[in-house]
Amino acid sequence: MNEFSSQDLFAKISQMTQEDEFFLPLPEGYQKGRTKYVIVMGTVMSGLGKGIFSSCLAKLLQDKGLRVAPIKLEGYLNIDSGTLNPYRHGEVFVLDDGMETDMDLGTYERMLDQNLSRANFATSGQIYSSVLHKERHGDYLGRDVQMIPHVTGEVKLKLRQLAMSAKADVVFVEIGGTVGDLENAFYIEAMRELAYEEGPHSTCFVALTYILEPKTLGEQKSKAAQLGVKQLMQMGIQPDIIVCRSEKPVREQARQKMSVFGNVPLERVVSMHDSASIYAIPAMLRECGLDFEVIRMLKIEDRINLGYERKEWGRWCDFTDKIGRETKSVTIGITGKYTSVRDSYASILNALEHAGIHLGCKVNVKWIETTTVKESNAAEHLRDVDGIIVPGGFGVRGIEGKIACVRYARENGLPYLGLCLGFQAAVIEYARNVCGLKGANSTEVDPKCPDPVIDVLPEQKKIEGLGGNMRLGGRDVEIKPNTKAWELFGKAASVRMRFRHRYEVDPRYIETLEKSGLVFSGKAPNQPIMQILELPNHPFFVGTQAHPELTSRPLRPHPLFTGLVSAAIKRKG
Ligand code: GLN
Repeated sequence: MNEFSSQDLFAKISQMTQEDEFFLPLPEGYQKGRTKYVIVMGTVMSGLGKGIFSSCLAKLLQDKGLRVAPIKLEGYLNIDSGTLNPYRHGEVFVLDDGMETDMDLGTYERMLDQNLSRANFATSGQIYSSVLHKERHGDYLGRDVQMIPHVTGEVKLKLRQLAMSAKADVVFVEIGGTVGDLENAFYIEAMRELAYEEGPHSTCFVALTYILEPKTLGEQKSKAAQLGVKQLMQMGIQPDIIVCRSEKPVREQARQKMSVFGNVPLERVVSMHDSASIYAIPAMLRECGLDFEVIRMLKIEDRINLGYERKEWGRWCDFTDKIGRETKSVTIGITGKYTSVRDSYASILNALEHAGIHLGCKVNVKWIETTTVKESNAAEHLRDVDGIIVPGGFGVRGIEGKIACVRYARENGLPYLGLCLGFQAAVIEYARNVCGLKGANSTEVDPKCPDPVIDVLPEQKKIEGLGGNMRLGGRDVEIKPNTKAWELFGKAASVRMRFRHRYEVDPRYIETLEKSGLVFSGKAPNQPIMQILELPNHPFFVGTQAHPELTSRPLRPHPLFTGLVSAAIKRKG
């Protein structure tokens, strides 16, 4: 039998036999030590903002000229997030390649101004299905297939593939859920193995935790956080950094306690307290020197470019300096089914924030539950808003209320932005009240309606199965010259937008709608798929079958959102 020391593992991998316990599937050409790994885990409770922390730290490193690549590892068995209810899990974020992912991928895309792909997202379901597929294919050469090393091996393979495809200096691994969950335990084990295999100065473990401050005590308590960190250590992982989430800045005493109980030097125990805007968090982490702590720990000082950082950080601060200094304010109404959970509209709220900061205007949001809205009371619901968004959605609930809101916006010059379902609602409203097609509807709402102006895409009709028959991901949209969309997009002939829909304008109705004055200013190239609509004689009435909120970035707000907010500012006067 061959004998290997851990240092030799990579070199000798090709000589391993079936007798060896080592199992190290590596992408071809993988170079140990080239890519470093920062691994972010949560303790005490979920919803701490692991994605926010991880993306902010990644941003600080990216700004120094390093190539960073984030990946989220989800514990659930779903293959993607497409079938998840946004009310329970937050919005479904769609990537350009059509992957439906967790909303954290949106945080990464925005913070890093990077388009991500399915290489940046894994679920337990994907990992297991890949292992089972390999087993059936005979790839495991007569071995019994086990959680360790095969399932953990698959996790490491995914990370190393990303390291190579992204040519990353640092891969940021965010593990979903909290330490102690049964479903993510194999990810944590895989990270323990990764640290051993990659060797010293290759990994940096970050434990995110929560410091409680019960009102009755008026004092910060770190016990739960200590226990969480202890649990991580029981799994064989010594955190290198402890990030304390809390409502108010974490006091020195609580940090000292975490330092003592976690074997982590005090300068690496940092406070990440609540902040009015997530865009203020990179500065918070930078002020505690966390960026350089990580760079030193990973020994990549020689890879950074401080001149580049000065420029990038300057650009970022020009943006963040405007936060909280807005001189104007507007209120945008958002209609929607999931009105009680802000996470279901995370990207829309971000896109409004980007546009607002850019225009020096604070954007307040008023949630409008449309199940109670009718034509007779729409004015009452919309009296105090300066603009309105009808966002994406599925199913029939509240749709008539949304259509009533669209009518009010159209007839009263109220700035309107329709997103996906909101685009469809605008078409239905126009068909009914301007074209005189009283029975116009979407077949999603009423499959037997006399005028199905919105119907299942012909190309999608052929494909069966829930989640399998949607038009997903980035598509080019051809812009019609001399329209509002064309002006907003800087006179571009074509723009890239992201889609997630099953229904569209039935091409048989396009002529009727256009003859009555509706302008389709964005279309799919070579297909009669209508993607942007507008009304020329309205201050701002725009709908899109796409989801522009998914591609708005802090320093590059989406033009349709800046369009809406500027129109709202003008209306308010
Ligand atoms: N339910 C509509 C469709 O499937 C709209 C989808 C959406 O708003 N994302 O086409």
